[in-house]
Amino acid sequence: MDALKSYYQYIIIDLTSDDINMRKIGISIDELFIKHENGFDHPESPDRIYVINDMLNQTEIIQKLKILKPRDATKQEILNVHTEKYYERIKSTKGKEKVFLDQDTSTNPFSFDAAMRASGGVLQSIDEIISKEIDIAFPLVRPPGHHAEADRAMGFCLFNNIALGAGYLLSKGFSRILIIDFDVHHGNGTQHIFEDSKNVLFFSTHQFPYYPGTGSIDEKGVDQGQGYTVNIPLSTGMGDAEYIKIFQEILIPIAAQYKPEFILVSAGFDSFIDDAMGGMNVTAEGFAKLTEIVIYLSEQLCDGKLIFVLEGGYNLNGLWECTNKVFETLLNYNKTDSNNLTESTKADSTIDEIKKSYSQFWKF
Ligand SMILES: [Zn+2]
Repeated sequence: MDALKSYYQYIIIDLTSDDINMRKIGISIDELFIKHENGFDHPESPDRIYVINDMLNQTEIIQKLKILKPRDATKQEILNVHTEKYYERIKSTKGKEKVFLDQDTSTNPFSFDAAMRASGGVLQSIDEIISKEIDIAFPLVRPPGHHAEADRAMGFCLFNNIALGAGYLLSKGFSRILIIDFDVHHGNGTQHIFEDSKNVLFFSTHQFPYYPGTGSIDEKGVDQGQGYTVNIPLSTGMGDAEYIKIFQEILIPIAAQYKPEFILVSAGFDSFIDDAMGGMNVTAEGFAKLTEIVIYLSEQLCDGKLIFVLEGGYNLNGLWECTNKVFETLLNYNKTDSNNLTESTKADSTIDEIKKSYSQFWKF
């Protein structure tokens, strides 16, 4: 506890009432994001966007948001992260009825354009934040991205939207970017793209062992990037208390020492309690609390520069509830509290193991 407290000295809770309700939140939404389809009855379906859109309208949250019309990424921007051969492979699917990229990832005639616009939506959101047109962005994009490798589509993902966001920031001179990935699946693509770099710190909580198979505690980055890949592999059944404690005891101290200049979140909601694609028990309130912690970090460490990018989340009611709580938190966040640190949780042994394993890189 004392050791942990000492790291809060880097983070000063100093939010005045003026900060409340002053944040401008931007979303990107586009018809192309619902035109991409993997095929009949596929869980990664356009309904995912429809249900979030319904939530925003039914709750009238939409009226409080700035709606961004996303641009397309350029080929050059895609090549920041992906190989030219892979870009051409995805481009070659344009206009074709159906092309299988792996056993559960396929394209329709619109998928290439959707993927270019999804990535472009992330890059444009970053520009809007840098120019202070908005404070926080949440591009509601399909297809998702974090499984996409530099040269390969995987797990419903074509271009790696979050990695392209980080690559774009690097090209603009940023040198410390924090990616937080709370999707139930490990973000293998994101990890591999940046694992030899200390300019991008990748932090991931995920079910393990599970699809895609990567994300063990021993994967800590390579060469210059050692210590800048932080994997928190979790057994099934972890819920709000475990995730919150992991964020408080592992993420906050590491982020405080890393001092990111921008925070990107791979926001996957398949760690939701009723999502059939994962075995975790995170509730909508739990996602709200994780969002609070992330906003808190961004406000204290990088002038609030924060972007959420939609990844997984396949229970449609859950997606409605979880994104509702996240948007309410983004709009109404005041300040977080850190009162739960002494409660024991099912993740305590994992937390201890991570701290020991990473003690050569970070202080806890
Ligand atoms: Zn997922």
